[in-house]
Amino acid sequence: MSERQTTDVVVLGGGAAGMMCALTAAGQGRQVRVLERSNKLGKKILMSGGGRCNFTNLHVEPEHFLSENTHFVKSALMRYPAHSFISLVESYGIEFEERKHGQLFCVHSAKEILAMLEAECLALGVQFQTHCELSQLDALPPGPTSPERFVLRYTQQGQPIQVQCQSVVVATGALSIPTLGGSDQGYQLAEQFGIKLVPRRAGLVPFMLTGELKDFCIALAGVSMPVTAHCGSQVFAEDMLFTHRGLSGPVILQISSYWFPGDTLTLDVCPALDLSDWLVTRKRQKPSQTVVSALAEVLPRSFVDQFLGIYYPKFISVKCAALRDQQLAQLGQNLNQWQIKPAATEGYRTAEVTLGGVSTDALSSKTLEARGQPGLFFIGEVVDVSGHLGGYNFQWAWASGFCAGQVA
Ligand SMILES: Cc1cc2nc3c(=O)[nH]c(=O)nc-3n(C[C@H](O)[C@H](O)[C@H](O)COP(=O)(O)OP(=O)(O)OC[C@H]3O[C@@H](n4cnc5c(N)ncnc54)[C@H](O)[C@@H]3O)c2cc1C
Repeated sequence: MSERQTTDVVVLGGGAAGMMCALTAAGQGRQVRVLERSNKLGKKILMSGGGRCNFTNLHVEPEHFLSENTHFVKSALMRYPAHSFISLVESYGIEFEERKHGQLFCVHSAKEILAMLEAECLALGVQFQTHCELSQLDALPPGPTSPERFVLRYTQQGQPIQVQCQSVVVATGALSIPTLGGSDQGYQLAEQFGIKLVPRRAGLVPFMLTGELKDFCIALAGVSMPVTAHCGSQVFAEDMLFTHRGLSGPVILQISSYWFPGDTLTLDVCPALDLSDWLVTRKRQKPSQTVVSALAEVLPRSFVDQFLGIYYPKFISVKCAALRDQQLAQLGQNLNQWQIKPAATEGYRTAEVTLGGVSTDALSSKTLEARGQPGLFFIGEVVDVSGHLGGYNFQWAWASGFCAGQVA
């Protein structure tokens, strides 16, 4: 026999968006229960930003988000801007620092952000339940007297529980990193209520290469260099890291969100210089210098060795003077526009986000409430909104959680 209970709001998922929604709704005087499937709240917060949580960004603009509807984020980001979260962080005396591109990180630990959210929730009477498995969510037929619109059946550590509520907020996150709670239950619930899903794929994720390019990366594993990466019309300038599987580093994670299987990446491995001009000039200035040592002045030596080894083996011990201007210009151009075709991404196993998800067409941009189902909300990463690297994903979680929490 399951115990029957009532509450105003049930939030499914105790991650970043769920906790922000819970504390906002509780702040409006609502009785809120958060159901978390795993043994702990906010696991991704703890892992984020290398344990320092890049919790927002000083330059939050809609251009930093991917969605089928690029205007959708505007309302929530205006209603809960970065400085609102920064004020909350400051009110807890949490030390933070600005790193490059306006990224804000905790100075000490991501644990402080999680502790702050938990403290806010608990002070406002939010009820947390971990180890919860949702069995069923049903909409109740509208009744003349009862305000409850949903009934949820779930188990907590095997114990069946039934709760009726006015609002259900789906904050179950997405598919990335299953060990940190990634789940597809939010999508299943959307489908159950006839809500369209935008196809999902891994974003902010390293690339895997095959064949000689993989060997190239293995030989350079650990080497990092500034590059400009282009894919289609999108371009990012940041550091790239060679790994034992392929390519990673901030620039690769950023461009991966715009990459589709079969696409070619163009990497400028020396964005500060036009290497065609530079090599031809170098030949005039230092004709007896080898091509390798000339290039090693502006690129990591190990990269130059590998690049020439695979694409220009005949140039390896050749002096600049021994090559025609046109050959040097071609080599320079190939370095400024190195074209590679990744075999695949590393997928959800290591992706920071899931692109796609619950279609924004089905949701109010002001409240995140499902248009056809009053009282049902979708927030955070489960929605078809994903941010660039740099604190944008948490800002979306805070902003969407806040907007839903105000009316749930
Ligand atoms: C390694 C890593 C580092 C990251 N670093 C950053 C960063 O520094 N800055 C940044 O902006 N973004 C970062 N991100 C992205 C950011 O963590 C996510 O965008 C954000 O956590 C999404 O918030 P959410 O609440 O929607 O989902 P989540 O934080 O994933 O929370 C969802 C919660 O729902 C629970 N859940 C799932 N299914 C159910 C269910 N059926 N019933 C009940 N509970 C359920 C999960 O266990 C989880 O606790 C990082 C991501 C990863 C993986």
